[in-house]
Amino acid sequence: MFGVPWNGDTIAPPDMNRFFGLASADLVVPNMDAWGLLADFNTLKEISETLTGNTGLQNKALVAANEIMNIFDNKDLASVKKARKRAEEVFGEGWEKKGEKIYDEGTDRHQVWGIGYCHIDTAWLWPYRVTQQKVARSWSTQVDLMERYPEHRFTCSQAQQFKWLEELYPPLFERVREKVKAGTFHLVGGAWVENDANMPSGEALIRQFTHGQRYFETRFGKRCETAWLPDSFGLTGAYPQLMRLAGMKYFFTQKLSWNNINVFPHSTFNWVGIDGTQVLCHMTPVDTYTAQATVNDINKGVTNHKNLESSDKALLVFGNGDGGGGPLPKMLDNLRRIRAASNNSRELPPVIMGPLVEDFFDKVLEESNAGTDLPTWNGELYLEFHRGTYTSHGSIKKGNRKSEILLRDVEHVATLASLYRYHKHDYEYPKAKIDVCWEKVLLNQFHDVLPGSAM
Ligand SMILES: [Zn+2]
Repeated sequence: MFGVPWNGDTIAPPDMNRFFGLASADLVVPNMDAWGLLADFNTLKEISETLTGNTGLQNKALVAANEIMNIFDNKDLASVKKARKRAEEVFGEGWEKKGEKIYDEGTDRHQVWGIGYCHIDTAWLWPYRVTQQKVARSWSTQVDLMERYPEHRFTCSQAQQFKWLEELYPPLFERVREKVKAGTFHLVGGAWVENDANMPSGEALIRQFTHGQRYFETRFGKRCETAWLPDSFGLTGAYPQLMRLAGMKYFFTQKLSWNNINVFPHSTFNWVGIDGTQVLCHMTPVDTYTAQATVNDINKGVTNHKNLESSDKALLVFGNGDGGGGPLPKMLDNLRRIRAASNNSRELPPVIMGPLVEDFFDKVLEESNAGTDLPTWNGELYLEFHRGTYTSHGSIKKGNRKSEILLRDVEHVATLASLYRYHKHDYEYPKAKIDVCWEKVLLNQFHDVLPGSAM
């Protein structure tokens, strides 16, 4: 029940016979100062555990955390305020009241660019109908968070998930549309789903983009500018050309950090396809697309960057995926604290919130001689992992190929028929019907369905 796996391993299939009883429930009024102190203490602990012992900020955070332990008395509420005051020696006086304005202070040389994301597998350990609910729950949470945290930007791919929302939750879809218009709910990917990037035919890869971009353009009046496949199991060398032709010059991916033999050598690079076309690619050094926005994540954006000599920037793609709802308030709060600490110290990379993914890539280009200083990678991005996905559940692969071939035949025959105005000269090309068939094939090319890694 609730997708809880039988052994605690979060990627194991759920035990459908596991049930939980609700024994009691309480309505409480939280003491927000106490919650604030807990968050202060956690950030200080993260700083002291992440930075090395010979840094000033690490020392200050460790001493502050220790003193807070001594000041705090659970029988004396006044001690909470006193302890929080002590934390201001690291975060700066009155940092909390500044809210999102904390990002306006300190340096404007930002190294880690935070963007909220919720990686919802279109099907994985659950069927499509459960994904539809995950989308509604997660995105409504994000729409609400944007109203409470003006710096919050949430990025989202997969036209199919938007279409489900439009059909099943129209009032929420309208709220999302308002946020897209306001520029806070940000469209990326340009594809129907985050598809497998090796097994679909060339034509199907193109259809992923044409159907995706057409959907985004008709519903939101704009196309995506950044291709987005963080979790696909390797990427064909044909992609740079296809992305460019779909109107996208930037690309975000991530999965190759799972390689089990070679460490991929670059973080930000020009990816050159088999025909010579290139896109600007970022593979975040944070090594995840579900970051928790901790001090360690921020620090990794620089310490794990593979080509700092040509670019010192990283995207922090943070938020819980797959039903976890995306970014949480505590993550946005933690980022404010981390920025506050880095406004007073040079030992943490400055994190920025508010810009979009394209702003990040634009900045990279601006600082790297239009990308000419960046390293280059030629050909496919091969994932040295998950190789079983090319043979698992052969029937899905066979069905996919058969459907691709059939759709090609149907389109050929329908084109000929419409040219000759077949059948009493009133034959019309059945575009809507063919689109429905294509959308089904494109949906099933999702990166856990076609590879056979879903339940
Ligand atoms: Zn995934």
